[in-house]
Amino acid sequence: MSPKPPRLLIIAGSDSSGGAGLQADIKTAGLFGVYAMTAVTGVTVQDTQRVHSVELQPPKIVRDQIRVCLNDIGADAIKIGMLGSADIVDAVAGALKKLARGIPIVLDPVLISSSGKRLLSHDAIAAFKSELLPLASLATPNLPEARALAGMRGTDRRAAETAARKLIAMGADAALIKGGHATSATVDDVLVWEGGVEIYCFPRLRTKHTHGTGCVLATAIACGLTRGLSLPLATGRAREFVQHAIETAPGFGRGHGPLNLLFAR
Ligand code: PLP
Repeated sequence: MSPKPPRLLIIAGSDSSGGAGLQADIKTAGLFGVYAMTAVTGVTVQDTQRVHSVELQPPKIVRDQIRVCLNDIGADAIKIGMLGSADIVDAVAGALKKLARGIPIVLDPVLISSSGKRLLSHDAIAAFKSELLPLASLATPNLPEARALAGMRGTDRRAAETAARKLIAMGADAALIKGGHATSATVDDVLVWEGGVEIYCFPRLRTKHTHGTGCVLATAIACGLTRGLSLPLATGRAREFVQHAIETAPGFGRGHGPLNLLFAR
């Protein structure tokens, strides 16, 4: 038998256009040499222009996918993306509390797609904060998500650090506030973790092809964690990977196209 690769369980929604969601996550894991399993939370009918519709899975099916994968194959990290509803948040939190002790969890708080479709219902936010955030080794909100979850005001580094500390006070072990939605010349991502504060600063790329950036970054970090990398190192490597994947995006579709997830590495 050849050596076993590290294992990642992805709890996320399907994006038919292949640029975000679990399609992006699986491709990213492949590029990092990590074995991907999935608990599908829902199916989006989506192209590069918009999310046309969303059909969620029954919470029991989500819970059972998590249960059978963790019981049989096991995982070295877990990445959480789109969840959709309060019932699915409860099902995921319940399954992870029972079965995922000691496994690093990267929680990407997917609230609204960049095209404006709600991907987590309003009434799920309270459960998301009280049930899921405390299970996260790392939460990775963008600025609108940090505003919604932690009341972030402003977009500068100090505001990001304050928001990250709020998410930590709410139970996450660490938080990465992503600066992609700001307007500064550089994109500054601010990581607050037990070892302190790290800032990842990259030139802002003038492109519309950024669909799925948040999914890819969170999964790339989770891939680093499957190999036991420290949070700052996993984040730095993931951030470099994303920068290159945006720079070399194929330019598919009439809207916001996907990143390069074929030869970015
Ligand atoms: N669709 C699905 C299934 C997702 O999980 C996500 C991401 O987080 C999105 C769409 C949103 O991607 P974007 O914000 O890049 O449009």
